[in-house]
Amino acid sequence: MILVTGGAGYIGSFAVLKLSMQNEKIVIFDNLSTGHIETINTLKKINPDICFVQGDLNNISDIENIFKKYEISEVIHFAGLSIVEESIKNPSKYYKNNVAGTVNLLNAMVKYNVLKIVFSSTASVYGEPEYTPIDENHPKKPVNPYGKTKLIIENIMDDYDKAYNLKSIRLRYFNVIGADNLSRIGEWHDTETHLIPNIIKSAYIKTSPFKIFGDDYATPDGTCIRDYINVCDLADAHYLAIKYLRKENKTDVFNLGTGTGTSVKEIFNLTRGVLGKDIPFEIAPKRKGDPAILCASSKKAQEILGWKINHSIKESIKTAYLWEDKLQKLKTI
Ligand code: UDP
Repeated sequence: MILVTGGAGYIGSFAVLKLSMQNEKIVIFDNLSTGHIETINTLKKINPDICFVQGDLNNISDIENIFKKYEISEVIHFAGLSIVEESIKNPSKYYKNNVAGTVNLLNAMVKYNVLKIVFSSTASVYGEPEYTPIDENHPKKPVNPYGKTKLIIENIMDDYDKAYNLKSIRLRYFNVIGADNLSRIGEWHDTETHLIPNIIKSAYIKTSPFKIFGDDYATPDGTCIRDYINVCDLADAHYLAIKYLRKENKTDVFNLGTGTGTSVKEIFNLTRGVLGKDIPFEIAPKRKGDPAILCASSKKAQEILGWKINHSIKESIKTAYLWEDKLQKLKTI
């Protein structure tokens, strides 16, 4: 059975869906601080065998109880906080939740002899790019506490490998987008900071125009360039990582992006096209710590894990829109 921490969240829920489609048995562990019980209910409706335990990684007995109760073979660890700005204002919350919480999880794994983990890492571990596209050997100099917590965890995992033989696959995500093509699950943050959901929300709330954070970057159209990867493609990579861990029993790290950069203005125009309506926007000041260009080299994941990208940005925008439409309709009930 695979333990999925943070399975009620955005990316975690897609990994659960993918794994359960592959007949993997799953137990989700989530404190529901940012994830939603509705997401769990949807997943359980799709597959009633999925188990759910509400608990917190900062509570050692919560996590140990999981290992006592279930026959866990591997862990996929999504649980954690991921809002950059919040991490700058409140680093204590991030070190406690992300770093201390993960240490509790790893200690329980070692105690109960579960020695394989796939970890949800981030492109933020690299910091300001020194070259592009960014490969896995790029220097790691995170510029905010969020990125630092993820790099610290990766380093801890190396030490646990050496000392306790705990093998980890670290997946460094670039910009994750899109929703389920049946609108069953999708991105659902109470505080939304991400580009595509924010553009779509502005189409509903005409009084709050979409803000382009800076248009004088050193890029062709002056707006930031990012590497946008579909959430279902990302979920596929987690399944491949589990299979790789089972077969090779090796620690490794992989970037997950498309290798193609798209600017904020390009995404805005694509979204406007998909929605078929005008969306109010304005140019706003740059956001602190936003590099001009972030683009991944995912050659390694493609070559070693056999990962393939199956979804276009346009498809992702369309599914994100249908999902947001569903959320907006729920609000009006
Ligand atoms: N962005 C923007 N307006 C928004 C949200 C994001 O202009 O309302 C820009 C942001 O400055 C960055 C890009 O869109 O250049 C992607 O931001 P997001 O927060 O989605 O992901 P990040 O790259 O920060 O992980």
